[in-house]
Amino acid sequence: MGADIKQQVSVPKSKKVAIVIDDLGNNMSGTDEIMAMQIPLTVAVRPFMPTTKRDAEWAHRVGHEVLVHLPMEPLKGKKQWLGPGAITSDLSDEEIRRRVRAAIDDVPYAIGVNNHMGSKITADTRMMKVVLEVCKERGLFFLDSKTNYWSIVDNVAKQVGVSCVDNHIFLDDKSSKRYIMKQMKLIQSHLSHHNYCIAIGHVGRPGKNTAFVIKASIPVISKEADFVPISKLVPHHWKILRKETGIRQTTPNHHNITRLMGRK
Ligand SMILES: [Zn+2]
Repeated sequence: MGADIKQQVSVPKSKKVAIVIDDLGNNMSGTDEIMAMQIPLTVAVRPFMPTTKRDAEWAHRVGHEVLVHLPMEPLKGKKQWLGPGAITSDLSDEEIRRRVRAAIDDVPYAIGVNNHMGSKITADTRMMKVVLEVCKERGLFFLDSKTNYWSIVDNVAKQVGVSCVDNHIFLDDKSSKRYIMKQMKLIQSHLSHHNYCIAIGHVGRPGKNTAFVIKASIPVISKEADFVPISKLVPHHWKILRKETGIRQTTPNHHNITRLMGRK
């Protein structure tokens, strides 16, 4: 009977949830709790920050997936929130290309890119085309955080031939546990009419509360869905990568790409 129960528990569920935690790389509050989380998570690490390397390596070591959290100009907000190496609308194509490559090189183990802020850039075809071309060249996918409802990322990604997935729910625009709990419930309602859900939380101001609520929600969400790393929701990415671009031996991501392609 024990064996039966074990078998039932290990059957994969058809519904999937990927939680991405943004804003790592600056030794932010909640980092310890996120790294210690006992479910597959994905962390988005800002390049050129004090703990960029430490956080990316730490996440990789504990089995979380890593994205480059690329700072991109928003429609509103202060330029200093962007931090170093940001993609801004005053840059030439060549300078954008150089900055995206440098950001990717700065975050070890990255398998994809998502936007830090970026409501202005993700609605701009010229700039997104350059960003996505570099993703393609490096064999990375793009996660559109959807900070702008009018984002054109999906369309441009199709043109360029890069895999792209969208965020569905921001967990912690407000940092109270009560609010984050409400957002976690939205994951469940999203799953009632979709097969998968991508949700984004943050370290920093809401960090400890976000980690607390995620941890508390694991038993409830696990009843109907599996927590998965984001790569599981980018279904054709690794096949396309292998067929069309091959594996770049020179990038720091090579090891990680090989490891993921080897997965079932
Ligand atoms: Zn961010």
